[in-house]
Amino acid sequence: MRTFFILIIILIISIGQLAAQRACSTAVYQQKEMAGDPSLTDQVNRIEAFIQQQKINRGTTATGARLQQVIIRIPVVVHILYHQSGENISDQVVSSQIDMLNKSFRKKNADTAAIPSAFKSLAADCEIEFQLAISDPRRRSTSGIIRKYTPVAEWQAEDQMKFSEQTGDDAWDPQSYLNIWVCNMKRIAGYASLPGGIAIKDGVVIDYTVFGTNNSSGYEMGKTAVHEVGHWLGLKHIWGDAYCGDDLVDDTPKQGNYTTGCPSGVRTSCGNTSTGDMYTNYMDYTNDACVNLFTEGQKTRMRTLFAAGGSRNSILSSYGLSEPLMAESPLPDELPKWLHPQVYPNPAANELKLDVAYDIRWIGKTMTVSDVNGKIVMQVLISSKLQVIDISKLKTGMYFLSGKKEDGSCIKQKFIKL
Ligand SMILES: [Zn+2]
Repeated sequence: MRTFFILIIILIISIGQLAAQRACSTAVYQQKEMAGDPSLTDQVNRIEAFIQQQKINRGTTATGARLQQVIIRIPVVVHILYHQSGENISDQVVSSQIDMLNKSFRKKNADTAAIPSAFKSLAADCEIEFQLAISDPRRRSTSGIIRKYTPVAEWQAEDQMKFSEQTGDDAWDPQSYLNIWVCNMKRIAGYASLPGGIAIKDGVVIDYTVFGTNNSSGYEMGKTAVHEVGHWLGLKHIWGDAYCGDDLVDDTPKQGNYTTGCPSGVRTSCGNTSTGDMYTNYMDYTNDACVNLFTEGQKTRMRTLFAAGGSRNSILSSYGLSEPLMAESPLPDELPKWLHPQVYPNPAANELKLDVAYDIRWIGKTMTVSDVNGKIVMQVLISSKLQVIDISKLKTGMYFLSGKKEDGSCIKQKFIKL
């Protein structure tokens, strides 16, 4: 019994810690990806060698060499996957997130005034901008926002949301777009794929509660997406994912571990006595209100990926922000296989069960039972995911259970009454 209580206490503490930090799963995710695919490790090593070679080519100054294209513009597609209606975030929330990405990567946030004095000279305008795509991969007009209902109530950092077949939504060509999936991640804030990773899984995933600027979690300002896009552009956590680890950036001080909450003053670790920890860097776990900079070194690392031969270079020739060639012409909606309701037992004598857990939007709708002549013999108000329908009073024979929702999706299921 005592062990049980200790376990409960540990569990409560763990949950508390999750709520009090950014809970980014990128490092764990990327390690798992590489462990499962040795060729990915080779690819990551090639990209790192490319970054280091570019650094040598540029000479010693971090800002010495520049790409021809000064401002890098990245077309974005946001895949919103919702189960509960509250997860279907509005266009305004999406805009607020794009705005925060732009302010952060262009050093235009009002809170850049709060950058600690030791780091002010290192804070960079990364000259990277984000815009919702106006052309899809077939150059049809698009809003850059896709909304899909999904039967999945909670996702894990295991990529299922990136595949339509798994009730998520397929990525747009990552050579041309930054894919962002927004869904209910429950226990984590988000994670990012690494440059050079598997194309169909490329992009970032963000929990809907920390996306945009409409929540009050301590991570309410849209900086989780700034952090994850930093990973997508090759940045590591500021502490190098190890005690005093290496984040492969020269101008960020070594740091013992991640930061939670919102500290102030100089906090030293790993012998960084001249500056202290750079806990206001976007790549730490500090609260949104207290992160405010990327450094010149981080900027250079991110922008190197866009140089000729770099793993994100193809984004520069994307048509995602070019005028569409065709007006939007969505294909007719086909009811996916997973939307077929389950009616059982069939045949049934007294009770028929209808399982609508795959699409809880049926709850509150009225369905009808009609006989083979089309005559309605019963009306059924759906009040739960597993609706029990009393058919004891029906005569023996064949019937149809039918319903229709506002979005046009229909149910028509045949059953036999014994
Ligand atoms: Zn992270």
